[in-house]
Amino acid sequence: MIKIEFSLAIALYLILIICIIFICWIVIESRKDRPGLFSSERDFFWQCDTCTYLYVDSKHAVISQCPRCGSYNKKEETLNKDTP
Ligand SMILES: [Zn+2]
Repeated sequence: MIKIEFSLAIALYLILIICIIFICWIVIESRKDRPGLFSSERDFFWQCDTCTYLYVDSKHAVISQCPRCGSYNKKEETLNKDTP
């Protein structure tokens, strides 16, 4: 049987917990830049250029009509212009 002091056992336990938290932190940070679960759904968001109304339209890809004011919006002028 391995004899170990109580303070050494506590220190090893704390080091193990800190290492687990650090590894989880690194894994979460490395996955942050990847496209997430809702990345394709961002293409469905439209922002009206006239009334700045934010709405969802999954049927149209290039031109969409604003449900509030009825004006037509192009995709290049919406939220996705800042994404490459
Ligand atoms: Zn509008």
